[in-house]
Amino acid sequence: MLKKDKISKFLFLFLSAVFIFGSPKNIFAEKSIHKEIPFKANFLSKNYKVRQGRTVRAQVKVNKRPAAVQVKFLSKVYNCLSNPKKPFIYECYIPIECEGKAGKIKLSARAKVKKSNWVYLKSLVDIKKVKFAKSVCFGYPKSKANLKLKNKAKKDKNSCKGGGFNRTMQRFLKKSPIKPMWVGAFGLPTKVNRYSTPFGEIRYSPNWGRYLHKAVDIVAPPRYPVWASHNGKVVMKCRYLYSGNTVVLDHGHGVFTYYFHLDSFGKIKVGDFVKKGKMIGRIGNTGRSTGFHLHWGLSINNEFVDPVEWTMKKFD
Ligand SMILES: [Zn+2]
Repeated sequence: MLKKDKISKFLFLFLSAVFIFGSPKNIFAEKSIHKEIPFKANFLSKNYKVRQGRTVRAQVKVNKRPAAVQVKFLSKVYNCLSNPKKPFIYECYIPIECEGKAGKIKLSARAKVKKSNWVYLKSLVDIKKVKFAKSVCFGYPKSKANLKLKNKAKKDKNSCKGGGFNRTMQRFLKKSPIKPMWVGAFGLPTKVNRYSTPFGEIRYSPNWGRYLHKAVDIVAPPRYPVWASHNGKVVMKCRYLYSGNTVVLDHGHGVFTYYFHLDSFGKIKVGDFVKKGKMIGRIGNTGRSTGFHLHWGLSINNEFVDPVEWTMKKFD
């Protein structure tokens, strides 16, 4: 009698354990699968073709969830993140400088799962040299009137605080969330009647000498709505002497978009999260501008690239 009780107690405990932890066979099966399949990673392309001023989306395919995937290009290291639609593809965005090296350049990556060694990968980026258009700007002579304008801007309660634009952007970049806030291609920020200045146009001006226009100028009807080109956080909404009424959105993963010369702002404030298509302002002619237009820019790690490419299907 006592023995029977012991057996039934043992059986009860055994069955409870199976219920909670799964059958012993399954536990071992999972362990052996983990041991059997080695970690594999490879670049989706062995030759990324790109033009100067554009973006390479480097993609690494893995067979297991990795601990880290890093891509190195021209001594800069980029941390790749999993594509929200394809979790076994890890990707990062590499900005190609307008006047940087052209030709075939080495692209390397390393990936690993927990406690394993790094797996090293190789690919190439084939950069096509672009002959950017040239234009001469008459600019604005450094006159007394200009100084007056600068002083007026300082007193303007809506003027941007916290130092110059570049320094402010460096600060924002450090705070940009690691994870992207967007999924899929970006949208155009307004109605495009035409592009009055293409990306990368080389300009000569008396004020700044030679410089590249690293954005596109979109001509749209005056005061036409300007929309957020993708989900992001409003990090800047203020007035600069040159860019006029300015909005900057942080989309995460070091990607920012810029909207200059706005006539007025939409119902947004710094710190707001906006959805793609949210009205953030209206087409204007504020700051150093010679007509109603939108200066629309996009940067990755503070390197500006052609934003129009980001609206194309290949970024879906
Ligand atoms: Zn512009």
